[in-house]
Amino acid sequence: MNPLYANMPTTIFEKMSGLARETGAINLGQGFPDSNGPADVLEAAQRALVVQSNQYPPMAGLPVLRQAVADHYRRHQGIDLDWQSEVIVTSGATEALAAAIFALVTPGDEVVLIQPMYDAYLPLVLRAGGVPKLVRLEPPAWRLTEEALAAAFSDRTAVAILNNPLNPTATIFSDAELELLARFAVKHDAIVISDEVWEHVVFDGRAHSPIMAMPGMREHTVKIGSGGKIFSLTGWKVGWMCAASELTHALARAHQFLTFTTPPNLQAAVAHGLGKNEAYFTGMRADFARSRDRLTAGLAEAGWAVLPSAGTYFLSIDLAASGVAVDDVTVCDRLVREAGVAAIPVSAFYAEAPVTSVVRLCFAKVDATIDEGIARMAKARALFARS
Ligand code: PMP
Ligand code: GLN
Repeated sequence: MNPLYANMPTTIFEKMSGLARETGAINLGQGFPDSNGPADVLEAAQRALVVQSNQYPPMAGLPVLRQAVADHYRRHQGIDLDWQSEVIVTSGATEALAAAIFALVTPGDEVVLIQPMYDAYLPLVLRAGGVPKLVRLEPPAWRLTEEALAAAFSDRTAVAILNNPLNPTATIFSDAELELLARFAVKHDAIVISDEVWEHVVFDGRAHSPIMAMPGMREHTVKIGSGGKIFSLTGWKVGWMCAASELTHALARAHQFLTFTTPPNLQAAVAHGLGKNEAYFTGMRADFARSRDRLTAGLAEAGWAVLPSAGTYFLSIDLAASGVAVDDVTVCDRLVREAGVAAIPVSAFYAEAPVTSVVRLCFAKVDATIDEGIARMAKARALFARS
């Protein structure tokens, strides 16, 4: 067996969802909404399933979806992409990440990773033979600094992985931070694999800034998106990667031997969804922001110190500021077993020097679930006061 996989634990998301099922806890851990996505997108998938071909679609994706991705980014983010040479459909952002990392990292290459980092990044980099160079962000601001990037980048840097908006911190990097990272990437001729699955889930009037639009980055970025996040359909696994045509040749070769294709009816439905009008996107954001505010207010009233959430389905609790002296893993373990709430310890997103004082909660739930979660978290205060 490959020791990388043989010695790897199950992901924290699967572990906490499993514990929630076992204990009957409310699952505010793994990030998925209670709702089932927009009805017209579901109908488009249903229609495509019975009316259109269910045989292998083209390896790079259905033309209608690749065109929709290019049109969507032109309309929403001002990026000009040639759908034929610069857009490849994948089975979720997870496959896009794997394809991009395998295509761009040669054994021995250095890869800059920003902690906290989504759990798939490091194992994929190691599988590709990459040498991780870790940058560490800290609460409560989680900001990227020039010193940290200068220490991580070198002439051996092939790739840097960016996640913006950032899961699990629910923060958004400023244009100044993105420009800083862009400067390092261009200087060292490195490619930024930019995981932007949360690009539409941003609150309070914020607009998403794609790093691909920063100076010098058009040729230095692989931009990754996911229909699962845009349409609250996390099980669908329809994603894509966008990059200059010099890069897409290798990206497509990696993709062709990971999955080759993605279910065509879901591709057609996501293509339909990407054309939805502005009202859908603003309404979706407003709904999630209302849920965020409901959970934030309830937790704050119960005495939990909540860190601000600018985007994603998540908010986090600062344990130290909440007067809880035990670490995040212990807190999450006790929350699920003794308080009936599954949450995610943020230390799971670190490979070294973990931040152990922050717990992530998902607010993408119906009001009744949020309210029950608040009631249980309020009771849990007593649990930790005693510990
Ligand atoms: N990247 C990040 C940062 C994520 O949060 C997620 C899922 N929540 C993914 C990638 C995976 O996306 P997909 O389900 O489209 O594979
Ligand atoms: N990205 C989701 C989260 O952060 C989980 C996805 C998964 O379970 N792989 O909760």
